[in-house]
Amino acid sequence: MNRMTGKTALITGAADGLGRAMALRFAEEGARVILTDVQTDKGEALAHEIGDAALFLTLDVASEENWISVIAAAVAHFGGFDTLVNNAGIAEKGDIEHATLNHWQRTLKINADGAFLGIHHCLPVLKANQPASIVNITSAVAVKAHVEMAAYSSSKAALSQLSRSVALYLARSGYNIRSNVIRPGSVMTPMQERVLAARGGAASEQLQTTIAAHPLGRIGTPVEIANAALFLASDEASFITGAELAVDGGLTL
Ligand code: NAD
Repeated sequence: MNRMTGKTALITGAADGLGRAMALRFAEEGARVILTDVQTDKGEALAHEIGDAALFLTLDVASEENWISVIAAAVAHFGGFDTLVNNAGIAEKGDIEHATLNHWQRTLKINADGAFLGIHHCLPVLKANQPASIVNITSAVAVKAHVEMAAYSSSKAALSQLSRSVALYLARSGYNIRSNVIRPGSVMTPMQERVLAARGGAASEQLQTTIAAHPLGRIGTPVEIANAALFLASDEASFITGAELAVDGGLTL
């Protein structure tokens, strides 16, 4: 109940899916949560559900101007924050033969540039609120090639290496700020529903194929990813930086 007491976390993509589960879990464990998303109505509703410990701010992670104003508003409201979760992302189908440059750039802009902007602009606030932690959400396909997701896989691999470089920089600079990655397997969220639908054919068959790829014999639940994020964000993980935690039912073994 109190693993995040005294901490304040800014979570991107918090209106739905995994980000929503993280916001709820962090708040349950005593954190104050700054929920950010492009889906304003859903984000505000979730902040209302959580109560005074939550603040919703509209943020498109690909917009540098958005980041600057959201960080200022978060600091004005809560006085600062010590945890950043780069969770927002998009996953659109596109193999190398059929994907367009526009598709590639849109995916990299949100999934990779978005996290770069978040870390870069949040760093002064994290430095002022040490010990601090950055949790970056990548994907199993950052390490396991996916035939239909060239841009998505590449964007997540970029975020993985960004997280490691940041971890080393922060440690070498003498900051008590950790940077780690969670690498989820498939989890049922609005994104996963869209991914299954985009494959075509019966949704139930696509789901069975996805389940079969996970050695544990099922896909994950949002709270299982949220629990891993909670661990890495909390002081329980105080000696862990530059790590990559697969939460994927064995998918990448
Ligand atoms: P989701 O689509 O269900 O939810 C993502 C949230 O991010 C949404 O609320 C959406 O509005 C928001 N978002 C999208 N673009 C944004 C932007 N430009 N700025 C701010 N917010 C934006 O997705 P999810 O399944 O919850 O995925 C969350 C993260 O986990 C993503 O980075 C995704 O790549 C990763 N992931 C998900 C799965 C899975 O199976 N669900 C597996 C591996 C990795």
